[in-house]
Amino acid sequence: MPYSTFGNKFTQHSGINELMDDLNKGVKGGDDILMLGGGNPATIPSIHQRLTNLMQELLDQGKLMDTLGNYDGPQGKDAFINALVELFNELYDWNLSTDNIMLTNGSQNAFFYLFNLLAGDFSQGKKRKILFPLAPEYIGYADASVSEDTFVAVRPKITELPNQQFKYHVDFDALNITDDIGAICVSRPTNPTGNVLTDTEIEKLDKLAKQHNIPLIIDNAYGTPFPNIIYEEVKPHFNLNTILCLSLSKFGLPGARCGIVIANPEVIKAMSNLSGIMALSPGGIGPEIALPLVESKEIIELSDQVIRPFYKHKSEVAIKLLTEKIHSENFRIHKSEGALFLWLWFKDLPITSHELYQRLKDKGLIVVSGHYFFPGLDQDWPHTNECIRLNYAQDSEVVERGITILADLVNELYA
Ligand code: PLP
Repeated sequence: MPYSTFGNKFTQHSGINELMDDLNKGVKGGDDILMLGGGNPATIPSIHQRLTNLMQELLDQGKLMDTLGNYDGPQGKDAFINALVELFNELYDWNLSTDNIMLTNGSQNAFFYLFNLLAGDFSQGKKRKILFPLAPEYIGYADASVSEDTFVAVRPKITELPNQQFKYHVDFDALNITDDIGAICVSRPTNPTGNVLTDTEIEKLDKLAKQHNIPLIIDNAYGTPFPNIIYEEVKPHFNLNTILCLSLSKFGLPGARCGIVIANPEVIKAMSNLSGIMALSPGGIGPEIALPLVESKEIIELSDQVIRPFYKHKSEVAIKLLTEKIHSENFRIHKSEGALFLWLWFKDLPITSHELYQRLKDKGLIVVSGHYFFPGLDQDWPHTNECIRLNYAQDSEVVERGITILADLVNELYA
């Protein structure tokens, strides 16, 4: 059957589909597959228990059924938006109203709306693009545009750190914001690297965005105030030129598909109109479950006291295992500053990262090849084929077995 241009674009192979397929197989595959690939958050027992109790209470009170039995408006559940406004105004000096927030079916859905709103084909044959000032960037952005060639990315500066670690920084000298850029977008903490852009980097990007009259999109899926999987002390950033995206997924509710967008009222109105056409309204179950946690601010307490320390510990254990087991001098780990991943760099590896992914998959270990994380980078750079992303959120025993398989293969390849 012939498909439209849109159909052909969205039915072809994509990194994000490969990743989600692997994730699904890993989740269902039991002990045979070690799933250190996708972005699934951990099942943290106390969070799991709290959410289970909460759902039971909401069920008993008839609230879950009310939510399931009704549509919300295209902007999303009013009570949840009100509670978020109150929470953010108490935490920060952002002076938000309900016109500044809308909900989506996961933040992935918000990025699809945003990228197609701010980039693609414009009148008089003009084209606009989304600029990723710091590659590598999140794999899920790569195909989220109905137009071709929507993304442009800039190579980072690399700072070598002690203990086989390194950190990426924005190369402001290489950043050229031309007239065809419709928005700047960064994830902070960054998926895949666990990098956290410094306050100075964010301030500079904010200034550049304002100078060029384009928004700065900050993807805060792992950031503060929830789920707060961020190990650096940095300032949360928002002003009316920022589009800040959050999610309930990494708090422990990826199946609820709830994304949160904070922006100026004009953007929120446009996004809500899009939402009405694309989805009628965003799902209400995530907002209903999270509402009591946001109203009581328990969401902050759980994020600070349970979620953040849980992942920080996991990250430290995984780094220790990797540095003990991989013997090559060519091995580097990006400094772990947040999110659920370690970004591993194998300098001058004799095979590409995609071949490494396939060989590991044959041995029952799923990771993600790094080459997918450079959307918009139109440069021949060997580094793009020398890295992999490893999710450290799974059970310690799974992570350790996975790292052993990885180390054995990498040591053999370098030998
Ligand atoms: N942004 C980043 C950086 C992510 O890592 C993810 C998921 O892994 C998303 C956005 C999308 O998350 P969701 O659609 O579950 O909110």
